[in-house]
Amino acid sequence: MSANKKLLILPGDGIGPEVMRQVRRVVDWLGRRRGIAFEVKEGLIGGAAIDAHGVPLSDATLAEAKASDAVLLGAVGGPKWDKIEFERRPEAGLLRIRKDMELFANLRPAIVLDALVDASPLKAEIVKGLDIMIVRELTGGVYFGEPRGITDLGNGVRQGVNTQVYTTTEIQRVARVAFELARKRGKKVCSVEKANVMESGLLWREEVTALHAAEFTDIELSHMYADNCAMQLIRNPRQFDVIVTDNLFGDMLSDEAAMLTGSLGMLPSASLGAVDADGRRRALYEPVHGSAPDIAGRDIANPVASLFSLAMCLRYSFDMIAEADLIEKAVAQVLKGGMRTSDIMAPGMARCSTTVMGDSIVRALDKLNVA
Ligand code: NAD
Repeated sequence: MSANKKLLILPGDGIGPEVMRQVRRVVDWLGRRRGIAFEVKEGLIGGAAIDAHGVPLSDATLAEAKASDAVLLGAVGGPKWDKIEFERRPEAGLLRIRKDMELFANLRPAIVLDALVDASPLKAEIVKGLDIMIVRELTGGVYFGEPRGITDLGNGVRQGVNTQVYTTTEIQRVARVAFELARKRGKKVCSVEKANVMESGLLWREEVTALHAAEFTDIELSHMYADNCAMQLIRNPRQFDVIVTDNLFGDMLSDEAAMLTGSLGMLPSASLGAVDADGRRRALYEPVHGSAPDIAGRDIANPVASLFSLAMCLRYSFDMIAEADLIEKAVAQVLKGGMRTSDIMAPGMARCSTTVMGDSIVRALDKLNVA
């Protein structure tokens, strides 16, 4: 970790700037009340960058992202830019920053806060206290493997091909992230593949097992087939701590796990890359949700997913566990007190705006900081 803490904030489009305004307030609070001086810069991505520079991510912003200790992103996209060709759309900016920063591990926690246990589509007794982390390999596997394409076999028959491919290096680096995370959590990793029917899955299992034996015997390792994991996430999700899996299975299992919590506006994520020569790990933190054009500009979006993304940033990029805990506790307290943005509104609770939710969280931080 470098001495000065460089943060790049990319608010993006739609509700992105609205929720990131609340993130900025908490970053400023950390400076004021905890003496943590971040060097904060802001930049453009997505539609906002197209409007200003004609491209969804400029080279200058990308260079800034690579020079930062962490990037905090809002969301991109919106109907205004839907007609532009695919490579110049807002989403292309997001894909470029993830690819150029070589962010190979995607972390998606699924946490059910006591105050929101009824928002889950599952019974409270199944999800109460849930706190799991899915680590998805993000830059390899069947979404990128060659050969790929659609070929004409003649006689009106066509063939679609995608290739699931993993190298030992790709498996080891994402498994290492999962084991290291587990060390900071419940010390359990479940590795998920289909070793029963796929060679790439068999290699995955062998490599994870070998890495565990060589470096992580303090962590409890189990293996599970992906289809069983999909079932177990519904039957008994609390059996898991950290799940590590490939790009394709991770895509599905992380969405399934997200729905256990029942609220898109609450879900953060992190994407991590390799550790460089200075010991700094490239990292981007963002809410799982998109730019929500249907509610943008009305100050009603839930800022919690973005604030939880900031908490992940403090925890994983800066090792500021106490500050990350503070933010999570402040949010839990505000929700316990009955404040709700529209997306998580429930009978008997008090509906509030994005700004008022931010106000309440900052006030809760003040109180927790003194206590
Ligand atoms: P979305 O996540 O933006 O919205 C889905 C639904 O959830 C909407 O009804 C929205 O109002 C609601 N919602 C989302 N976040 C919320 C929040 N914080 N508070 C309250 N309600 C919230 O997904 P979508 O509608 O499929 O996509 C809208 C745009 O966002 C598209 O242009 C899409 O390409 C883009 N998108 C971007 C990202 C990203 O930037 N990472 C991710 C997904 C979608």
